[in-house]
Amino acid sequence: MNFNKSFFCLIGIMILVFGSSVIMKESAGYEVSYEGTPVGFVSRPAEILDNLDPLSIALSEKMEMQAAVTKEQFDFEKTVRVFRNKDHWEDVADQTEEKCQVDVNIYECLVDDEPVARTNDIDQLEGAVQQITESYREAHPEEHFDRIGFAQNVVYSVSRGKPLPEEPAEEVTQTLRDSLTVETVEKSYEQTSIPFDILYEETETRPLGEKSVKVNGVEGTKVKETVIVRHDGEEVSRNEKETVLKEPVNEVILVGTYSSSIPWEGEEFMNPVSGTLTSKMGWRWGRVHKGIDIGAPMGEPIYASKGGVVIAAGYNQGGYGNMVEIDHGDGILTLYGHMSAIAVETGQEVLAGEMIGLVGSTGRSTGPHLHFEVIIDGTNVDPLEYVRY
Ligand SMILES: [Zn+2]
Repeated sequence: MNFNKSFFCLIGIMILVFGSSVIMKESAGYEVSYEGTPVGFVSRPAEILDNLDPLSIALSEKMEMQAAVTKEQFDFEKTVRVFRNKDHWEDVADQTEEKCQVDVNIYECLVDDEPVARTNDIDQLEGAVQQITESYREAHPEEHFDRIGFAQNVVYSVSRGKPLPEEPAEEVTQTLRDSLTVETVEKSYEQTSIPFDILYEETETRPLGEKSVKVNGVEGTKVKETVIVRHDGEEVSRNEKETVLKEPVNEVILVGTYSSSIPWEGEEFMNPVSGTLTSKMGWRWGRVHKGIDIGAPMGEPIYASKGGVVIAAGYNQGGYGNMVEIDHGDGILTLYGHMSAIAVETGQEVLAGEMIGLVGSTGRSTGPHLHFEVIIDGTNVDPLEYVRY
């Protein structure tokens, strides 16, 4: 009997407890607030705090902006609710979006550290900046740009705040365009050749004046790079840089210095140039030709026929052109005319075979040759008595 009594008593208590909970539907939990505004009722704060990232993503999707919620923005108050089901974090997201202004990303375009445009949409901002260079490119279809950008430093910064009022894309673009300068860089290349020098090398192993090529000259190559920078089409700088791609190879020509001298009464004379006799001494065109002409190529070296002292070296108005006269002593002089260049000075001592100038066609002359005279005691004598051609 005792057992039955306590059994029924227990059943009665259970019915009372269970029944009341069914009838009253009372439950304990936490009131959730976002920045002070109630947005839901959950069993534990962790239901929200462990789901901040999915909550932010859900809010971003609803708002179509980059939203983000932080744990500091939420408050939890322990409370008991009657006739109230607990919310899932997704329901909290819905209520937060409906009742509150959620913090979102604010993107700012800084031009040389000055804030110029602000928007909640980074794509809109970057697109507006890109549009400026794109339309510049379209306006200059003929030109090739190696780089296109801005004269100013353009950076984007991100911060958090309440959503900004919407601004039309064209307005954002216009604001940016007013504060940006389009900078273009163009590069061009030009390749040219480098001429080689001709060097003369004397050799005693070859006859006097004979020339032979020791090294063939080869032209080099260089490239000129030009870099032009423009700001909104105006040239602001131009840089030119030359780079040698291939050095030239200098031509080396051997010039013989060996000479067999021709004796004359104990005096030795050397052929002053390598060439051929084109005119003898004597009457020519109604006047006396006071020496011989030896035809030789322009630039051929001319040598002192005998050692002595240079007594004249310069331009002669009388028709000899560039002329050198050498005193060999004992009343013997030699004279060299029509030179393209003179290599000695008046008063200078020269040895037999020393180079004194180059074959030319200066003065009264019709082509490159050496006019050569021998004067003894003030009288012109036939040079062919002393030199052999
Ligand atoms: Zn002559």
